[in-house]
Amino acid sequence: KANRLFKPDDTIVDVLGNKVGGGHIGIMAGPCSVESETQIIEIAQKVKASGANFLRGGAFKPRTSPYSFQGLESQGLELLKLAKNETGLPIVTELMSTDYIDKFVEDVDVIQIGARNMQNFDLLKQIGKTNKPILLKRGLSATIEEWIMSAEYIMAGGNENIILCERGIRTFETYTRNTLDLSAIPIVKRLSHLPVIVDPSHSAGDWRLVEPLAKAAIIAGADGLMIEVHNDPQHALCDGKQSIKPEKFDEIMKKVKILSEIE
Ligand code: PEP
Ligand code: MN
Repeated sequence: KANRLFKPDDTIVDVLGNKVGGGHIGIMAGPCSVESETQIIEIAQKVKASGANFLRGGAFKPRTSPYSFQGLESQGLELLKLAKNETGLPIVTELMSTDYIDKFVEDVDVIQIGARNMQNFDLLKQIGKTNKPILLKRGLSATIEEWIMSAEYIMAGGNENIILCERGIRTFETYTRNTLDLSAIPIVKRLSHLPVIVDPSHSAGDWRLVEPLAKAAIIAGADGLMIEVHNDPQHALCDGKQSIKPEKFDEIMKKVKILSEIE
């Protein structure tokens, strides 16, 4: 179902009127984690003013260490809803467990499946039975083929509203947290009709690389970006090193707008 052979036209995922794919660029921005009401509302207002069309923010966090901040969980979802009420921005947030599917279907606009769960086939099958838009991130060491097959799992259940997200893959390089695979964009677009966006923040692991990688992604044909933005990156509870401030996000958005018109 994901194969372009069977559907030559680009899929356009429409989330409350915000389109991604088929020439429509979707920008998802916000903090790694929802931390407080003032934090999420302030960031939501700022990224919206700069032109983001989705608010990202983790409530359930897949952290490497069990002793790291795990997210505000259900309370985080409530704060995301408040920020959506304030700004109208649809919410993108990560689902880690099948236990919360019904709650996510109710409260969330785009269900994010993180890199670590890209091959959680039970989770993929369960969200395939919903009609919610899904953001499917590429696994830490997943090939393009494996990534598309994971989208196929969701589509096999009947849900064809999928946005793919390249977020960097494991390589031997240590200057970046992951290596952004820019070539995945044109390859996925040749193989599949599904939209593909790029997350330069988790690819880089370093805020200084977010702008060049975001610009490169747009020029390579990405249908959008997911960018971590924090009002006080030094004190962020998660991923502060790769988070940009709202002012920087505003600058990047102006450049992305020009580049997407060239593309
Ligand atoms: C995230 O976007 O919050 C995240 C954890 O990303 P990834 O799954 O790509 O590591
Ligand atoms: Mn993060």
